[in-house]
Amino acid sequence: MKAHDGMYIGGTWRPAATADTIAVVNPADEQVLAHVPAGTADDVDAAVRAARAAFPGWAATPPADRAARLATLRDVLAARQGEIAETVTAELGAPPKLAGTVHAGLPVLVAGSYAELAATYAFEEKVGNSTVLHEPIGVVGAITPWNYPLHQIVAKVAPALAAGCTVVLKPAEDTPLTAQLFAEALDEAGLPAGVFNLVTGLGPVAGQALAEHPDVDLVSFTGSTAVGRRIGATAGGAVKRVALELGGKSANVILPGADLARAVAVGIANVMSNSGQTCSAWTRMLVHTDQYDEAVALAAEAVAKYTPGDRLGPLVNARQQQRVRGYIEQGVAEGARLVAGGPEAPRETGYYVAPTVFADVTAEMTIAQEEIFGPVVSILRYEDEDDALRIANGTVYGLAGAVWGPQDEAVAFARRMDTGQVDINGGRFNPLAPFGGYKQSGVGRELGSHGLAEYLHTKSLQF
Ligand code: NAP
Ligand code: MG
Repeated sequence: MKAHDGMYIGGTWRPAATADTIAVVNPADEQVLAHVPAGTADDVDAAVRAARAAFPGWAATPPADRAARLATLRDVLAARQGEIAETVTAELGAPPKLAGTVHAGLPVLVAGSYAELAATYAFEEKVGNSTVLHEPIGVVGAITPWNYPLHQIVAKVAPALAAGCTVVLKPAEDTPLTAQLFAEALDEAGLPAGVFNLVTGLGPVAGQALAEHPDVDLVSFTGSTAVGRRIGATAGGAVKRVALELGGKSANVILPGADLARAVAVGIANVMSNSGQTCSAWTRMLVHTDQYDEAVALAAEAVAKYTPGDRLGPLVNARQQQRVRGYIEQGVAEGARLVAGGPEAPRETGYYVAPTVFADVTAEMTIAQEEIFGPVVSILRYEDEDDALRIANGTVYGLAGAVWGPQDEAVAFARRMDTGQVDINGGRFNPLAPFGGYKQSGVGRELGSHGLAEYLHTKSLQF
């Protein structure tokens, strides 16, 4: 597969500081696809300097012109959708259909939303005798994960550019080829040199150097809570802005009166999609005790459609495969009942995990508390709504969730949930709705105008 052997810094692909490389592996067949340079602190420093040098010019560019660049970016991403989907399938293992619609399609939508927001956002407002200016924060260090390789990048870079910030991106080591395509797309869109810069590399080397760089004004991170906590501490020590999109353990609450078959089928599909590697996945299904057995039977039926190697892709790497299989073993050991799947790998080659459903899961079990990040659903039983709420809110996370039932009751329940986003009766995805976590699921919001506001700070002028 095509790969650049340099870093995209200051508007050109230039050689990395060292000759070290990272092998990119196809998780479906375990073959090496390409190599990309492993960046060091020197590469990060060069990229931050380029971003700093470009900042005054980009910040002073009228919002309408920034909007025009983003609209061109949207068009380039749309024109290259097929190539992007193939790359995501190769380096993440996403089934082609999912890669085309979600992995390559969603970024077009989000880039387009920021082309519009850049043109319409109120960067200036009147408050009594003051004029409040919303100004770009400066140089953004963006660190992204592999699970939605392009979406996670666009959800940071598009609002940052709309705001007038410049960016250095350190993408996940498992999915750098998609990030290189994104750099190509911005280059093709005619973004001025240095406004966007890419350093591929390892988290504890390039990622850490970016998070600690004194000339980065805001660090925006998506990934694990463990790394997020460190990045937050580093940013706090330096008194700089930080945005953290971390893990989740979302609840899918099925109230009596819900369309049970649909709630279960959509709930299973929600977790199986992307092999369960979605931070907002509804991995805990909560069912009233009267409907419990029926729901378990429906779940076993629904999950049977997800054949590994066909509708269900592999996990991203061997380490994640081992980690998820370990959680399944732990679920069995703690007394949960396997209804489908299990710890054995379903295919000899590729980092596949069997689509797995556990019944008789209690709220304290490890599999009901920790983020598994694999195709594993736990079905929990509740006695009444207060019990359901206690279970739904009973983790350290609060990223997303779902409620099914008569609309008024479902909304009343959702209001009591400690979580950042709730889908009511299978509500449709909205790219303008703020996305982000309560509790340890993170700090800050992405998408829409709330996502744009993260990259701005305010100045008040009094008259
Ligand atoms: P991770 O280590 O948190 O990776 C996220 C990003 O941070 C990657 O670009 C990573 O680089 C980088 N990174 C790692 N250590 C760093 C450090 N010390 N300083 C700065 N940056 C650093 O996540 P992971 O290891 O890929 O996945 C582990 C678990 O995280 C998953 O099982 C899942 O539970 C969770 N996760 C959550 C999300 C989400 O969307 N909320 C996404 C992915 C993973 P490398 O790629 O080189 O490691
Ligand atoms: Mg990692």
